Amino acid sequence: MSPGTGESRSETGRIVPAETPLTAQYWSAARRGVILLQRCADCGAVLHPPAPVCPGGAAHELRWLEATGLGRLASFTVVTHAAHPVVHGRLPYVIALVELDEGPRVICNLSPGQHEPGPRARVGLRLGSTAGGLELPVAYLLAER
Ligand SMILES: [Zn+2]
Repeated sequence: MSPGTGESRSETGRIVPAETPLTAQYWSAARRGVILLQRCADCGAVLHPPAPVCPGGAAHELRWLEATGLGRLASFTVVTHAAHPVVHGRLPYVIALVELDEGPRVICNLSPGQHEPGPRARVGLRLGSTAGGLELPVAYLLAER
């Protein structure tokens, strides 16, 4: 997940996007373990990462929405080559594209030590203290029901 732009910093082998005025509320919630999305009060669009205006209209009102943290695996890849020195010690790791139940897609890591995920596997996202203190979401496989 990469809300906002700006200089990145790295912590615990992760590259974390810089906080900006647009993303400050998102990161504040992330530190509490909550994923915030934006929902348009006018057209219902659900957005991630945070946007300054709704794509449906600049006059539309965007409000914060707490995500359930549940979704489905849309795709994934196993990284075996360090594209940045900070991730070298984590190889191999899995990057997942998760489609949240609310609609937006989030790029994150899949929790290590889990079996090879199946197509459209049900996942949950953790962040904050439940993800080892990380502000970035980490996906974990859920048992299908
Ligand atoms: Zn809208």
